[in-house]
Amino acid sequence: MDMSLTGKVAVVTGASRGIGHAVAMELAAAGATVAVTYRAQQEAAEAVVADIVAAGGSASCYQLDVTDEAAVKATFKRIAEELGAVGVLVNNAGIVNDNYLRFMSADAWDEVLRTCLTGSFHCCKAVLAGMQRAKWGRIINISSDAAFTGDVRRANYAAAKAGLLGLTRALAREVAPQGITVNAVCPGMIETEMTTDMDEARREGLLRGIAQARFGTPSEVASLVAYLSSPAAAYMTGQAVSVDGGLHMG
Ligand code: NDP
Repeated sequence: MDMSLTGKVAVVTGASRGIGHAVAMELAAAGATVAVTYRAQQEAAEAVVADIVAAGGSASCYQLDVTDEAAVKATFKRIAEELGAVGVLVNNAGIVNDNYLRFMSADAWDEVLRTCLTGSFHCCKAVLAGMQRAKWGRIINISSDAAFTGDVRRANYAAAKAGLLGLTRALAREVAPQGITVNAVCPGMIETEMTTDMDEARREGLLRGIAQARFGTPSEVASLVAYLSSPAAAYMTGQAVSVDGGLHMG
């Protein structure tokens, strides 16, 4: 099975911690030169680059707020000039801003949509011309099981993540003729900063709904992203694949 990304440049958004960190490590281990992007946590992103280099890989870090279209354009241009044309894009940056819908502000709604959905749109736009020229590309959108199941106090997040599945399928159809695949990965409950603040009662309740009765690790998500990024996954596009220990089936 050809899992090698040697000679490819990969961009991972929100790679300063959590799932993005694990994805950046995994793609670098497969041979890619990785652009580790972060919004605010520069030191954490530099530590990810140091981990990759210590493991024998190649990476650089870039500040990038995916909600800022002009910054996305400029940063992807810089990445292409400094590292080479982008072959793999992982739209991982995401936030939550929870509340019952009745009490959710329009700002909280917009902020989550702008980050999780519109940010991915900006990044896809920034890489497509290069991928089309190369007649090869892999785009992986990190969605969520919440796109299927919904989640209490997360109407903004579930809507954004479901929207990301629509973006994935539409773009997959548009760019299939140019050798570009577009897939979504839907994690269930993964141990990261996004889930550490959860109270025990909620955690216990969630565990009862997971067949494997445990939260997953970032590296368990990263393995799937590495597969979808690889030459081996050439015939897979427009899919939404859950990695969730059996939280959402079917
Ligand atoms: P974390 O909260 O641990 O990390 C989020 C990352 O996103 C950080 O690197 C952060 O950068 C970055 N980020 C946030 N806003 C922006 C922005 N506007 N522009 C660029 N980067 C930004 O999250 P996880 O690792 O848990 O989640 C990663 C992805 O996986 C998200 O899309 C999330 O929705 C999804 N997911 C997570 C699940 C889980 O259980 N953890 C379950 C399902 C999906 P910085 O720190 O530098 O600001």
